[in-house]
Amino acid sequence: PTRFVQFKLVLLGESAVGKSSIVQRFVKDSFTELRESTIGAAFLTQTIQVDLNTTVKFEIWDTAGQERYRSLASMYYRNAQAALVVFDITQESSLDKAKYWVKELHKQANSDIVIALVANKLDLEAERKISTEEAQTFANELNLLYFEVSAKTGENVKDTFREVALKLPIE
Ligand code: GDP
Ligand code: MG
Repeated sequence: PTRFVQFKLVLLGESAVGKSSIVQRFVKDSFTELRESTIGAAFLTQTIQVDLNTTVKFEIWDTAGQERYRSLASMYYRNAQAALVVFDITQESSLDKAKYWVKELHKQANSDIVIALVANKLDLEAERKISTEEAQTFANELNLLYFEVSAKTGENVKDTFREVALKLPIE
């Protein structure tokens, strides 16, 4: 018996942290060095098998981080079951922005939404400004899942979505 479940997932975070690149890596298993910034939001889907019996289809809203689209974001996260709040380990300000988005989600999203804090650009370890410990501590305080990924190398991207799927109410 095979179960098929669909979940709405939204990506939030400061501009240029790599939200679209993470989605591109997950959906197309590719990476582009120079990406155009997202306008409004982009919709993509990807299906993964999380265990022998369960297939999960993610309906992904990749939002734009720019200020002028900020008010639109609530349209995408209001009915989302999962959110990836992304920051860039080389940009200090991006963790503050991630904190802002987590607060927004707690105010306005479904109370049972699964939120993952995602540290991107793990390949730029030499330029790291935000330590694993700092981010993990913040995630623990707010009961968020925490993952470190690189959209560029693909490290941990698929596992992140898989772990999020496993936290969602299947059945
Ligand atoms: P978004 O605005 O959050 O959607 O960010 P983009 O996906 O458009 O990425 C912004 C820039 O960061 C682009 O130049 C990407 O190529 C680059 N980028 C994204 N992810 C990574 C990563 O994991 N490692 C490195 N080195 N660069 C990345
Ligand atoms: Mg984008």
